[in-house]
Amino acid sequence: MSTTTTGEEPMAQAAARLRTSGMRVTAQRMAMLMAISESAGHLDADALRERAQRVTGSLSLQAAYNVLRALTDAGLVRCTQIPGHPARYETDHHDNHHHFVCRRCGAIRDVECTVGAAPCLEAHLPAEYDIQEAAVTFWGLCPDCRAATPAS
Ligand SMILES: [Zn+2]
Ligand SMILES: [Zn+2]
Repeated sequence: MSTTTTGEEPMAQAAARLRTSGMRVTAQRMAMLMAISESAGHLDADALRERAQRVTGSLSLQAAYNVLRALTDAGLVRCTQIPGHPARYETDHHDNHHHFVCRRCGAIRDVECTVGAAPCLEAHLPAEYDIQEAAVTFWGLCPDCRAATPAS
């Protein structure tokens, strides 16, 4: 887990992003946007709630989910559902990237989309279907877990 603080977003910038998206500026929304942009990405709601609480004071998990849903709906935050894991959140750069998930430790990292635009995979579906997106999850072992695995 990285503890880097690069990419820290000042509150004013978070407020500006909310306004640009036509959202009402609230302390909870600003705190959540800051928590997400300060993290290296892919934190779950509980971890983000913990970070946001440093700014807002006590925040319930339900409130955290409500804020995250509003930010996701507004296109500011991307929510990724990975089977067997709680939903993860990151700043939405609309870059159509994919994810690698370590089977052992659950670490998630971005995988650049090879095409760069959605949907990046050809689907064998009748033309009547409107395909908007393809989400690919690559599964395996991260370098740390791989190094910890005895060679067979
Ligand atoms: Zn791992
Ligand atoms: Zn990602």
